Amino acid sequence: MKTDFDKLGLNTVLAHAGSHPEDHHGFVNPPIYRGSTVVFPDVATMKSGNQRYQYGRWNNPSTEALTEAINALEGAQGSVLCPSGLAACVAAILAVVGAGDHLLVPDSVYAPTRHFCDTAGKRLGFETTYYDPGVGAGIEALFRPNTKAVFTESPGSHTFEIQDIPAISEVAHRRGALVIMDNTWATPLFFKPLAMGVDLSVMAATKYVVGHSDALIGTVAAGPRAWDQLKAYQFQAGVYVGPDDANLALRGLRTMGMRLARHQESALAVARWLEMRTDVARVIHPGLESHPQHELWRRDFQGASGLFSFVTKEAPFEAVEALLDGLEFFGLGYSWGGFESLAMNVDPRKMRTATKWDEAGHLVRLHIGLEDPVDLIADLEKGFARFCYVA
Ligand SMILES: *Cc1c(COP(=O)(O)O)cnc(C)c1O
Repeated sequence: MKTDFDKLGLNTVLAHAGSHPEDHHGFVNPPIYRGSTVVFPDVATMKSGNQRYQYGRWNNPSTEALTEAINALEGAQGSVLCPSGLAACVAAILAVVGAGDHLLVPDSVYAPTRHFCDTAGKRLGFETTYYDPGVGAGIEALFRPNTKAVFTESPGSHTFEIQDIPAISEVAHRRGALVIMDNTWATPLFFKPLAMGVDLSVMAATKYVVGHSDALIGTVAAGPRAWDQLKAYQFQAGVYVGPDDANLALRGLRTMGMRLARHQESALAVARWLEMRTDVARVIHPGLESHPQHELWRRDFQGASGLFSFVTKEAPFEAVEALLDGLEFFGLGYSWGGFESLAMNVDPRKMRTATKWDEAGHLVRLHIGLEDPVDLIADLEKGFARFCYVA
């Protein structure tokens, strides 16, 4: 087994982690093991628990190959696969927060995570306080004696605020709390949560890990402070992912480095083009010098992925509808991280309680896929011609 992945480049890790051809007759990829029951040779072995695989829900060579690769990529002590990215956010929270506890969540968080906290979380008896994602070390003022965890997501969904994760982690650990981060946007290729003080690093692997919009899966990777709790929660709650989806994620992982490099380059090209337009009020991309936390992004991140937003100049809603409805290469759809470009209009006003969103124009979120940026720009150019005609 290759154990020193932390000394290797990340693309080498992506190509080799979790790969054991010697276990599979030399085949480079692990086969898809479908199975619930695993049999034991005799009663004594069954009673001892001394067998590598014992029950499908606990362990399976297909899912193990993926967790091994995720551990290497994240620098984690251990990780757990979840049936979706949202289920991974929920598993990370429920592994460490319970009735009577207090959880801090950024106002810019992925809306379904917020919905979980406000509904099931409330019913389960923990209290959530939403905070300004720009709070940094000032988060200490929001701590209560029962604050168990700080949830972070950087950059924020739709609005791309970069959080000061090391500052937040320092406060949290000093106050006896754990830090969870939704790192779906950057992936460990562009931001290493566990090295920056995070205890539970979450990815919607649905996005860049799977990379082809053909499966849903989530990962939670734990550092030493949180692994025992995460592992126990997985066992208690029966958190499980089927071998077919795990295999699709492992397949996607092998090419994630080169895909992300292309997403990054193309998204920056489109963002820079948008920034020059007179009908665009603001482009919100952490890699642009104009981004309010650009310096923080430069300090902590190694790159930017393909997802960003822009705000149009003030216009009737029909104008942005006309822009988006006629796009040829940008699908109108949820999720992102696949090979294809996507666009959607969102109104952040509906998702905030701790901060204000007071842009006059419409927010459009783009995912820049693997198409040639020249074609994407031409498509958007035609869209802006439609944007102007209603007014
Ligand atoms: C998509 C997304 C999720 C949820 O992933 P699913 O697989 O769709 O459940 C969680 N967090 C962020 C930031 C996302 O973009």
